[in-house]
Amino acid sequence: MTLVGAGHAHLHVVRQAARLRAAGLTVTLIAPELFHYSGLASGVLSGALALDEAQIDVGALAAAFGVRHLAQSVVAVDRAARFLTLADGATETYDRLSLNIGSVTADPHGLIGGPGVWPVKPLSQLLTLRARIEAQAAAGAAAPRIVVAGGGHSALELAASLCGLVERCDGRPRVTVFAPSHGAGLPPAAWSRLSAALAERGTVFRSGLVVARTVDSVRLADGALEPCDILVLAAGLSAPPLIGQLGLPLDGQGRLRVSPTLQAIGDPAIFAVGDCAVIEGYARPGAGVFGVRAAPVLLNNLAAQGHDRPPRPYHPQARWLAIMDLGDGRGLAVRGRLWLLGRAALGLKRYLDLGFIRRMRAPPASRPQSIFR
Ligand SMILES: Cc1cc2nc3c(=O)[nH]c(=O)nc-3n(C[C@H](O)[C@H](O)[C@H](O)COP(=O)(O)OP(=O)(O)OC[C@H]3O[C@@H](n4cnc5c(N)ncnc54)[C@H](O)[C@@H]3O)c2cc1C
Repeated sequence: MTLVGAGHAHLHVVRQAARLRAAGLTVTLIAPELFHYSGLASGVLSGALALDEAQIDVGALAAAFGVRHLAQSVVAVDRAARFLTLADGATETYDRLSLNIGSVTADPHGLIGGPGVWPVKPLSQLLTLRARIEAQAAAGAAAPRIVVAGGGHSALELAASLCGLVERCDGRPRVTVFAPSHGAGLPPAAWSRLSAALAERGTVFRSGLVVARTVDSVRLADGALEPCDILVLAAGLSAPPLIGQLGLPLDGQGRLRVSPTLQAIGDPAIFAVGDCAVIEGYARPGAGVFGVRAAPVLLNNLAAQGHDRPPRPYHPQARWLAIMDLGDGRGLAVRGRLWLLGRAALGLKRYLDLGFIRRMRAPPASRPQSIFR
């Protein structure tokens, strides 16, 4: 059994690898050495949390649970020959494959790679962005003019976190959020409170689509230019290109279509969960919660392969709790039409997210100890 990507569900599967071994399966995990947890990414970006607080050492976790780990990315899948090509050129064969490789920043206008362009994914980039803004502030530079492209939850949370970071550096934030429309599907009263709170902290909401980048501005679809030092791209996520190479049915965001048993339509030897997949009849937006909830079903269904038992279905919930970190000690919690903005919302978010990180990390006794301790 080969697990590709250490996303939310695979972290759980690795911790329960003994169940797969008991089913007669040998387990290999192919994933980069560090997992960056999105639930705490904005807290790290705003400077409220230390840089390593949102990270999980995947190698240590795999070692603690007896899983063979290759600290690599998979760059190609040959389904006919059942082998994988890794980023270092090595190859691996597989009998069954489980994909939990997350998503990449959607970039329909080819902005990534431009000067001062920061895509939200991979999340590790946000650590570098924080360091850059802190270094400029320490050198006495004025707060950067930040443009956030996108109007969804991630875009709003990033705008708030960047305000928090600039405030922590004793600056006055200058953030403009561009989206074709604003409100992020929030209950209208929640949007009104959130937008007013962010406006007080130096955020401007404008209608428009960012389509190009020059050295010191962004160009909008109507040709207007907006001064900009840092462009954060948060206008949507899509499945990683590897998913498109499988030659299997995809949805409009390039996600692998899977049945409720989490098996690819057209190839039951391939399982997929989280942002890279979409369950037939249960389309949901990308959110870590779905990977977490799918994890026990995935584990059961992978083990069922060894026991030759039928898999069981996963039906994702229709409503879920989403909590934004507003970067100033407050959060915005939303579930359906219910919402709460304030310190209690952030307190709940930290409780849930720090609990997840604690549970998913390798047990302390198995982590490498410093010889100086
Ligand atoms: C700024 C921001 C904040 C967010 N906050 C929240 C939040 O608070 N709550 C929430 O529920 N959702 C949040 N989201 C959404 C969340 O990031 C995703 O929905 C979630 O991370 C998806 O989880 P996953 O398990 O599918 O994959 P991920 O958590 O993205 O993990 C995928 C893993 O696979 C690895 N990988 C990728 N490609 C390969 C490859 N080819 N080979 C091997 N390994 C690979 C990656 O390195 C990564 O570690 C946020 C998103 C952003 C951008």
